[in-house]
Amino acid sequence: MNTVELIKKKREGNQLSEEEIEYLIANYSNGKIPDYQFAAFLMAVYLCGMNKTETAHLTRSMLNSGKVINLREIPGKKIDKHSTGGVGDKTSLIIAPVVASLGINVPMISGRGLGHTGGTLDKLESIPGFTTNLSLTRYKSVLKKCRAVLIGQTKDIVPADKLIYALRDVTATVESIPLITGSIMSKKLAEGIDGLVLDVKTGSGAFMKEQKDALALAESLISTAKSFNKKVIAFITDMNQPLGNYIGNWLEVYESVKILKGEKEGDVLDLSLELAGAMIYLGNKASSIKEGAQLAEKQSRNGKAFDKFLQIVKLQGGDTRFLIKPEQYPKAKYSKEVSLNKLGFVKAIDNYRVGMASLELGAGRKTKEDIINPAAGIIFNIKIGEGLKKDDVIAYLHSGSLSKIRKAEEILKKAIDVSKSKVSKPKLIKKIIH
Ligand code: URA
Repeated sequence: MNTVELIKKKREGNQLSEEEIEYLIANYSNGKIPDYQFAAFLMAVYLCGMNKTETAHLTRSMLNSGKVINLREIPGKKIDKHSTGGVGDKTSLIIAPVVASLGINVPMISGRGLGHTGGTLDKLESIPGFTTNLSLTRYKSVLKKCRAVLIGQTKDIVPADKLIYALRDVTATVESIPLITGSIMSKKLAEGIDGLVLDVKTGSGAFMKEQKDALALAESLISTAKSFNKKVIAFITDMNQPLGNYIGNWLEVYESVKILKGEKEGDVLDLSLELAGAMIYLGNKASSIKEGAQLAEKQSRNGKAFDKFLQIVKLQGGDTRFLIKPEQYPKAKYSKEVSLNKLGFVKAIDNYRVGMASLELGAGRKTKEDIINPAAGIIFNIKIGEGLKKDDVIAYLHSGSLSKIRKAEEILKKAIDVSKSKVSKPKLIKKIIH
């Protein structure tokens, strides 16, 4: 086959066959197709889309680039959760220990930061020593010992997604329903799970800005999961403002620890409990999502979920001292308060810009080679609908560079719209597709 001809075929809006998709994925994974050609192919898919059949072939080819993990030797249900990506979305760090503490296996394969959104792997790696790059043997051993493990794509497990994910991140080809479906479902299918909970984000900080597009993405993910005989529940949730108050890798671990210790409530906890509830229901430990959420709440209040988080971190090589005493974590070199000098109510937040401000501070990547500053990010104090006084500090910025702080402040200030009249709060969970 000829790679240029296949790029052209997709560019012209034609359907690719199973063999053609398999050829492209296999040859990009083994290094025979260079980045520049695959980037052109990704852009053609971004612009022209893929139908259901092509998306299923794409998912299968990505899955077949590595091994499907066989977890039959580990007793109990294997259930996972995946989010389509957002700003301040740290629910995996809370959900995995909550659900594992109830005896359900959570064999999570996650991703790094993508576009303006953060990634679970980068967050976990901000804990000194924590490794997300485990061998298959160690992956199974951690899962067996504590019922949860959190890793990334490796050269053995969905290597195609490891490569394509990094390339999409820097080629403006993230917001594509077939590419997101292939990426998420190949990782989840490789885990050998029984069931999956999907958190499909919608709003200014999501890849799907409009709810109708989020619904179409949910539909694509659900139909792919079903074609592989996996049980699935999808949530459509709000991403018109950051989830929680902390954005950036260590800052998000810090907020998760506060939640797991019962020191912080709010939207992150509320959403985490609902998503965990759905996982517990799929894991047959509750008769409904509601009952599952109640069990999850109990585990987050009685300290068992925090103990489980410490166990996971320890088994994956992380230094738990910083989780027990987070105030000892090394701070970013520079910090700055941001005020808007406006009186009124927070009307809207351009959450994409908030994510970009965090990336600018050093919490994300602009090129594949960029190195993340784990302490960089934003403490974001406001939520839509809240009242604002002129001297209120709306955010604290943290970075290793003053010029980055200046740029991020400029971006952030443009992200917030203040109105004189009262504004209602957006609904956190918009829909559950069961
Ligand atoms: N999460 C993924 O794993 N892949 C995507 O493309 C988007 C979110």
